[in-house]
Amino acid sequence: MKYVSTRGSAPALDFEGVTLAGLAQDGGLYLPAEWPQFDAAEIAAMAGLPYAELATRVMLPFVGNSLSEDELGDLCAQAYLRFAHDAVTPLVQMNERQWLLELFHGPTLAFKDVALQLLGLLFEKFLARSGKRLTIVGATSGDTGSAAIDAVAGREGVEIFMLHPKGRVSDVQRRQMTTVRSPNVHNIAIDGSFDDAQAMVKRMFVDDALTGDLHIGAVNSINWARLMAQVVYYFAAGLQLGAPHRAAAYAVPTGNFGDVFAGYVAQKMGLPIEQLIVATNVNDILHRALSSGDYSAGTVTPTATPSMDIQVSSNFERLLFDCGGRDASALAEQMRSFDANRTMQLTNAQRQSAADIFTSSRADADDMARALRWAHDGAGQTLDPHTAIGLHAALTSELSPSVPIVTLATAHPAKFPEAVERATGMRPALPARVGDLFAREEYFTELPGEYETVRDFVRSNAAR
Ligand SMILES: *Cc1c(COP(=O)(O)O)cnc(C)c1O
Repeated sequence: MKYVSTRGSAPALDFEGVTLAGLAQDGGLYLPAEWPQFDAAEIAAMAGLPYAELATRVMLPFVGNSLSEDELGDLCAQAYLRFAHDAVTPLVQMNERQWLLELFHGPTLAFKDVALQLLGLLFEKFLARSGKRLTIVGATSGDTGSAAIDAVAGREGVEIFMLHPKGRVSDVQRRQMTTVRSPNVHNIAIDGSFDDAQAMVKRMFVDDALTGDLHIGAVNSINWARLMAQVVYYFAAGLQLGAPHRAAAYAVPTGNFGDVFAGYVAQKMGLPIEQLIVATNVNDILHRALSSGDYSAGTVTPTATPSMDIQVSSNFERLLFDCGGRDASALAEQMRSFDANRTMQLTNAQRQSAADIFTSSRADADDMARALRWAHDGAGQTLDPHTAIGLHAALTSELSPSVPIVTLATAHPAKFPEAVERATGMRPALPARVGDLFAREEYFTELPGEYETVRDFVRSNAAR
C-alpha cells in the first residue's frame, strides 16, 4: 500500500513511512493511493469477531509490507488490553432507534485512546527496527494530549512535546497530561487558542531549524495511522446493527474532522452507511462548509465542549481532496488560497460528492443541555457534553425512522463534570482506573504564544 500527499508534490510513502511522518513535506496530508475494499461476504464473515481480531482484519490492507498479519494481530491484542470493557467499544441502545457507541473505556477516558494506544506501539516497533529516534510535537484542545502522553510515556526511541492552550482545557484533561512524570514527556501551556497551538505545530514540521537534526512526528489526527484505527469501530457498530445487509447512520461530535473521516473511509471500504452526521458546536465552520459551501474561519468561541472549539479542521483537506476527484494541484492551490485568506468556497464537485454521505448540524449550549437531559431522564444514560452535541444531531435528524442512528460517545462524562452537573443535577464520578488524579503533582512549562520561543524550547530540550 502506497500513501500519497493531498498536495501532490511530496514523495509517496509506505505505511511505516506515513506512521513516522507528520505533515507531508509539501504541507499536505497523506492518504492511501486507493481505498481497499471488502465485499459483502467478507464483511459478513467479520460478525462476532473479538475487537482486536476485527481490528486486525480491517487494518491489514492498509499496513502493506510494513507488518505481517501476526505482527499486526499482536499489536492490536496488546493495544486493546488496557480497555476497561471486554467489547472495547460497546454499543448501547437508548431507544428503538437511537444507539450510543461508547468509545471512552480506554486509560484516559476519551475515544483518542482507541487509536493512540495502537500508535504508541507502532512507533516503538518501527523505531526499534530502524534504530531512529522520533520527536513528537502535538497540539491539543484537551483529549489528544492525555491520550498521546499515556500512549508514549516511557516508550523507547520516542519523546513527546505537547502544547495546550493555557486555561482552555478542563482540570481533568490538564491533570491527565501534566501529572505524568516521565523523562520523555514535556507539557507546554501556551498563551493562545488551540488553533494558535496547532498552527505552531504545523510550522515546526516545515522549519529547517528543527527538522535539520530532529525527526519530527505527529500524533494529531493528521497522522494516518490514527484515522485507520478509528475505521474499526464503525465496522464494529455496523456489524452489530446488521451490516452488510442493513445500513446505519452515525452522528459524530466533530472538531478536527478525524473521527468522522474514519467513517467516510469505512464506507469507501464497503461498510453500508446511510449517512454521516457532522455535529458541531457554535464553532460551526464545518456545518457552514457542508451546508452552503462556505469554508471561512472566524474566531474561536470557548464552549463547554473544548475538544470541538476549532475553526480550522485539518482533516477536512483529506475530504476535499477525495471528493474533488483527487486533483492534487487544484487542491494545493485551493489550500494556499485558504491559508492566505482564511476563507474559500468548496467547488460544486466537492459539495455534491460530500453531500452523498455527509450532512451536518450545529448545537448551541441550550441544545447541548437538552440532549444531556434527554439521555439522562429518558434513557438512563449520563453523557459527556461532546457526546450530547452528537446526540442533538441524531435526535433532530430528518432520516427515515427505519434507519438506526449511532451517536459516537467520544468522552466519559467525568471528564467534564461541571457541564454535566449543570444540565442534569448529577455530578459524574471519575472511574477508579484514573487513580488519585487530583492529589498528584503537575509538571508543565508556560510559554508565550510566540512561535520562535516555543520552537527554541523544543530544540534545546529534545534528546538526540
Ligand atoms: C477529539 C474529540 C472530538 C473531535 O474529534 P475530531 O476527530 O477532532 O473531529 C470530539 N469529542 C471529544 C471528546 C474529543 O476528544
